[in-house]
Parts: sequence; structure tokens; C-alpha cells
Amino acid sequence: MDNSNWSHVGTSATKFVLDPNKPTMNLGSLNDNSRDDEICRVVLHEFGHALGCVHEHQSLAADIHWDEEKVIADAKRLYHWDEDKTRTQIFGKELDATMHSAFDPSSIMCYMIPPEWTKDGRGINENLALSETDISFIRKAYPFRTRNTGRLSVSPDIRQPYPPLALNSKIIEFDPPYPLPPRIILGLTLLDAAKTANIRVRVHTLSQSQRSNKSFTLNLDAWADTELYNAAATWLEFARSEVNFEVGQFDTTDNRSFEDRQPSAEGNFRRDMQHVDFPPGKYAEAPNVTVWLNALDLSKDFNWRIRAAARNVTTSGFDVVIESWDNTVVYSASAAWVACPRNHPGVASGTVSSSAHRKWFPPRLANGGRVKFDIPFDRTEPKVFIALNELDMDNSRNFRVKVSADKIDDKGFNWHGDAWADSILYTVGADWIAFG
Ligand SMILES: [Zn+2]
Repeated sequence: MDNSNWSHVGTSATKFVLDPNKPTMNLGSLNDNSRDDEICRVVLHEFGHALGCVHEHQSLAADIHWDEEKVIADAKRLYHWDEDKTRTQIFGKELDATMHSAFDPSSIMCYMIPPEWTKDGRGINENLALSETDISFIRKAYPFRTRNTGRLSVSPDIRQPYPPLALNSKIIEFDPPYPLPPRIILGLTLLDAAKTANIRVRVHTLSQSQRSNKSFTLNLDAWADTELYNAAATWLEFARSEVNFEVGQFDTTDNRSFEDRQPSAEGNFRRDMQHVDFPPGKYAEAPNVTVWLNALDLSKDFNWRIRAAARNVTTSGFDVVIESWDNTVVYSASAAWVACPRNHPGVASGTVSSSAHRKWFPPRLANGGRVKFDIPFDRTEPKVFIALNELDMDNSRNFRVKVSADKIDDKGFNWHGDAWADSILYTVGADWIAFG
């Protein structure tokens, strides 16, 4: 019986343990009488190895002044290790490590080192828990979860812009597959449609049979006489284990038929609204809610003015609203939303709009600006997902708009909300969420 503690490091478990019946980790020193803090220390350390971490005291950055003779003698007496084993386990430097932090003597991956094992009498205490550096390091090594790049365009991913076609779809594979089908939210990022018909577009994964743990079908569809040249969508995947995130979808047709007018709100606003309740106790403070438009059915006879937003966000719930103003006719629209705890590590989100930089008139084709994250990310390139949530366009020209993000670094990114050719864009806005 092996009463030592050890684990293969990261993927070496699949390379060197060829017999599926052989263990890749051993927690031999633990038994029913082990103290909780000892179990915690051993399990965190060995699982650190399984996640790919090597010993901190063997890091290239470690400056420990070993009394080698003393250590070799003690290791022989205490663990029956020969000199070679002591040299590889304790003194040897990890030359192959691909990611480093500065030497962190409080790391769970550092051995306890008695002061008498060093020539300068500076030992290292026994570490029982993850250090700050352990947490930020592993977060860098295992960045967020939304694994796909999360973008698909009708053109060029599916077909050329001409001739326009109503039904466009593509199967998106999850690599690797999820244990269970993930929750997915979709947002519209680009739309290019003719002014000669109503603006009807829908991004969706319609049927349950189109979603599995291995893939989903992303559809970018128009209907009736709408001429859809191009459309693009972004999406987020949330594994079932991502319990901090609540997601949902609001479709105005849940509340009214497309023929009924959008109900009036104050002023000349018209508003569809649905109240969402979070599961009780889910959020200790009001979460951040990101809202993306993902379907539109707008009359061609009036300017296209629409906005989706989260209002009255509290710990218990919020209102998801889809608004229009002036004489715009919204036959139907839908929006997806995701709620995330405020100050969730590795996540940031917000809203951008051309109205923060200029008045709606005169219109402009190119809009955008720099977004700064409240707290810089650990990673140099976080993933930014952005989709439309606000539009004001003139119906005398084709409907052409897109939102995007570029120049992404740990401190922020540039957002763009653009129209092109002869389109007239008064206002464009988007919600974004970033993971790093
Ligand atoms: Zn170890």
C-alpha cells in the first residue's frame, strides 16, 4: 500500500499512464483520522499537480539557500529517499514549466521547509490554503469557460451576400463536448437588409433537437418578403456548473400578438416588458445584467428605433424591456439576457452607445470609443462579447449596421458601432461582457 501523496502533472497523466486501471494520483497519507486542514492541504496540493502546477520551491524564481548535506541526510532518515530522489524532488529546478509567477513562498505548491535545511536559516511555513498568487495563476492558466470564439456571419461563413436568402444556419461544434448541453444566449451583431420590405430577422437555436452537449445549430433567419443580405451573431455558452450566471430570453410575442401595437409607456415611448425573478437568495447584491437584441420585426414605413435594456435591477429580479419611440412600429422583437454577480472575478460588463459621445443628429457612419475595465484583467487578452441593444436608423436607406470590439487588452477595448454605404445611422448602442 502506497502511503505517499503524489500526482501526475497535468496532461502527463494521459501520456505516461497507459494502463487505464492505474491511478494518476495517490492521497496515501490521508485516512479517516486525518485533520480537516491536513486533508485540505494535501488535496489542494495534489490537485494543483493534476491541473499542471509544478513545485513552487523548484521554480526557477525560487532563491532558497539549501544546506544540501543536511537535507539529503534528513530525507534519507525520514523518507528513505536516496540522494538522487532528494535532488529531483527538492533541489531540482523545473526547467520545462511554461508559465511562471514570481517566487511565492505562500503557495500551496511549496513544500514546508524547516529553517535548519537552509544556510541562511530562512525556512518556509506549512501552507494550508491557496495563496493569492495560486488563485490568479490558475485563473490565467484556465481562462473562462465560454470556449468558442462566439461569432458567426451569414457572409462569408455560410454564403455570399447576394442573392439574399431567408434561411441560414450552421452547426457549431463544442470542442471538447460539455457533460450536459450548455445554456446559450445569442445576440445580433450585424444586419444588412433591404429597405423595400419590413425588417425581419431572428437569431435562434429553434428546437431542442438542435441543441446537445456536442453542438448546437445557429440560425440567422429572415421571413416573408424581407431581403437579408447579411447578418451576424455572437453567443455565450454557460456550462450547467456555472451556477453564478442566470440567463434568459424575452420575446414580445410571449405577451402580445405581432398585430397588436406595442403598449404605450410615458412620453412618446412604447414599451414591451417582462419581469424576471431570480432564484431566491441567488444574488447578495444587484447583479450586472447584459441584454442583447436577437430578433426584430420592424415596419419599413417608419424609422427603425429600438432599444433593449434591463431596468430596476435588484437582488431579487429585474424588468427586461424592449422600447421604441416616436412613430416606429415594432411588430415583435426579442432579447437575451445574462445576469452575473457584481465584482465576479474574471468578468466585466457594461453598455456603450453613440449617444454618450454625440447627439443623435447629425447621423454618422462610424461610431465608437475606448472602454476601460473597472479592474484590469490578469490576462493580456480577455474575450469580449458585444451585441446590439439600441438602434436609431433612417428607413429611407437600407438597414446596415454592425457592432464590434477590437484592440482588446487587459485594461479595455475599442468598440465600434458602424453603418456603411448610404445608410443613415442616428444612434447605435451595445451591451458587452468580457471574460479574462
Ligand atoms: Zn507535490
